Amino acid sequence: MPAPPHPHRDPIVHHDDRTGRAVIVAPRRGERPHGADLAAAHGGQGPASWCPFCAGNEDRTPPDVLRAPAAPAPWRARIIPNRYPFAEPAPAPLADGVASRPAHGVHEVVIESPRHDTSILSIDAATWSDGWQLVRRRLADLARRGDLAWGTVFKNSGPRAGASLDHAHSQLVAIDFLPPALQAEFAAAALRADPFADLLAEAHAAGRVVREAHGLVAIVPPVPRQPCETWIVPTSRQPQFHATGADTADALAHLTQDLVGRLARLLPGVDYNWWLHDAAWRADAAATAVVADRWHWHLEILPRASELAGFELATGCHVNSLPAVEAAARLRDA
Ligand SMILES: [Zn+2]
Ligand SMILES: [Zn+2]
Repeated sequence: MPAPPHPHRDPIVHHDDRTGRAVIVAPRRGERPHGADLAAAHGGQGPASWCPFCAGNEDRTPPDVLRAPAAPAPWRARIIPNRYPFAEPAPAPLADGVASRPAHGVHEVVIESPRHDTSILSIDAATWSDGWQLVRRRLADLARRGDLAWGTVFKNSGPRAGASLDHAHSQLVAIDFLPPALQAEFAAAALRADPFADLLAEAHAAGRVVREAHGLVAIVPPVPRQPCETWIVPTSRQPQFHATGADTADALAHLTQDLVGRLARLLPGVDYNWWLHDAAWRADAAATAVVADRWHWHLEILPRASELAGFELATGCHVNSLPAVEAAARLRDA
């Protein structure tokens, strides 16, 4: 029997029309364990004794949503429901247009290695690619459902990037509204006939291309927020990552390891985030419909070399000490 709804415990999304911000209040997020606490509770034993993501500890997580390869072979990557979700199936009917309502959606964890790898650079290429193939399949499943407006996969690598467990993993989220950052990107894209062709042509002309491989280009964006921010963009029109082929996911796996390797050589020990920007899954807003056919999914990789400080939080302006063209030159040489 499903658990009864807990109105004060379930995630609620609040849209603030005074600031344009959206905030999800999710009290259960505060209960999630931190790796350092789990290790301390096990008297300093190795991760196999306490890490819920290590192979052998599957009974400490909810059952798989997807896994690779299929049972009974030992898994190399798997997707599980997040025990501490900030989006989950809403217990009550949704009221569209209301400022505060249940954060309806899906929040899952992609475990990217059966071993306690704490960097994606120590995961072998085949296992690393398996994780991306699972993400592609899962996002495709969720996009088909029809009740979700947009979805993403994102990674928090390291404590400065928000990771609470250091076993390599990403999070997969699908929600029923378009977040403000995406609304802004879609609105800007609607002003150009071919926004991503422009983006890539300008990157080539300015010397901001880092690498090109198998139909994907890694660039330093025109206005990076942090030293060595990079975006991975397909050269051809592909609105949704999940609608591309297995070969594209494989190419993305290869390029993410390549770029994180460059970052690690340039900024040793740097934490980073990345996230996928798909086109909207539901063309229910005019701007969304316009951009859907001219969008290129892209992965934005943001090293966390400096903290978001008072000025950034006060103004939304970022202060970056490394000019974009110089960052691209350093990344190419790294
Ligand atoms: Zn582990
Ligand atoms: Zn974007």
